[in-house]
Amino acid sequence: MVQVNANYLKLKAGYLFPEISRRIKTFLENNPDSSLIRLGIGDVTEPLPSSCRQAMKAAIDEMGTVEGFHGYGPEQGYSWLREAIAFNDFKANGCDISPEEIFISDGSKCDSSNILDILGSGNQIAVTDPVYPVYVDSNVMAGHTEGAEASGRYAGLTYLPINASNGFVAELPKEPVDIIYLCFPNNPTGAVASKDHLKDWVDYANTNSALILFDAAYEAFIQDENIPHSIYEIDGARNCAIEFRSFSKNAGFTGTRCAFTVVPKTLKGKAIDGSDIDLWSLWNRRQSTKFNGVSYIVQRGAMAAYSQQGKNEIKDLVNFYMKNAAIIRKSISSFGLDVYGGENAPYVWIKTPMGIDSWQFFDQLLEKANVVGTPGSGFGSSGEGYLRLSAFNSRNNVETAMQRIARL
Ligand SMILES: *Cc1c(COP(=O)(O)O)cnc(C)c1O
Repeated sequence: MVQVNANYLKLKAGYLFPEISRRIKTFLENNPDSSLIRLGIGDVTEPLPSSCRQAMKAAIDEMGTVEGFHGYGPEQGYSWLREAIAFNDFKANGCDISPEEIFISDGSKCDSSNILDILGSGNQIAVTDPVYPVYVDSNVMAGHTEGAEASGRYAGLTYLPINASNGFVAELPKEPVDIIYLCFPNNPTGAVASKDHLKDWVDYANTNSALILFDAAYEAFIQDENIPHSIYEIDGARNCAIEFRSFSKNAGFTGTRCAFTVVPKTLKGKAIDGSDIDLWSLWNRRQSTKFNGVSYIVQRGAMAAYSQQGKNEIKDLVNFYMKNAAIIRKSISSFGLDVYGGENAPYVWIKTPMGIDSWQFFDQLLEKANVVGTPGSGFGSSGEGYLRLSAFNSRNNVETAMQRIARL
């Protein structure tokens, strides 16, 4: 008899996005002539940079020649891409990261889940609330939790609430934890962490022999020059942090797939007998066994992101989305609502008006303005009373959406 992974049965039914789709469907059945503007999705909308497309086209033609054909590449990624990343994303910002510490992958969603492969099952794990759901669900699947409670939280995890009163940055946990997921700039709240805040976490992690899993997928959207782009800008982070980065949001690679994970060689975990084991070797072994690398063509596309033209195009893309975010922020706050995020991140996090809940605000925007947001409660119980609007859309859609909401 085939037994299934019973941990999957603990997962709450995918509630947020199916429920959004269900409400949209009902609305459209009753209002077939209305045109919806979707500011709910966390996917980019603008085309791929020309530098990346040109590089991928050239790589395809190379693959059509005997001399230029590439079969299996290194599981860790091509050295030219790892070197370009180490130099441009880290050394140029004063971070001591070597090319061998960079592992190219097909996405940071998978890396941030797969990393659990090399970590034990007895760790106490902390996540923020609200949170990017992947961190929670991958731990449920790995058997690190009990079942879901009525609040939607899973027993066994440590939840760190983030809300307006703590500026959407978590306080250090009161109970000892071994692994902490941090995401800055944050999805869904758009919050960023100061150097001092990250220093507190790095010191906590080093003092408690804990590991920080730092998701920096949105670092390119940081506008404030005092905000760190990488956890390795903080002294001591090489001893306690893994960083996840992606070409998805800055270079529009959500459909093309390329990302990378940084595992410093100085990072240690413990074996059961208490001896130190370096995590780099385990991750290298994991990737060599379970992964066969990102396509040569896509890595060539990612490499073009580091050319001068690529850098300029990415800057233009980021500026385009950040202008959208500024328009959303300005409009929504002019309506008298409390608005957070959107200054160093493509997400604007809005306090619902008059104490209504996230889904009531979602319904109002859908029915009266024909605008789709994402209810904050879908990201965790502390997201109740908030709604996320995404800046990933055309200028025209963003402006029209704001005009429609203004009429409410
Ligand atoms: C979009 C996003 C990513 C990127 O995931 P990919 O798999 O690289 O596309 C990572 N983390 C968060 C929080 C995101 O929102």
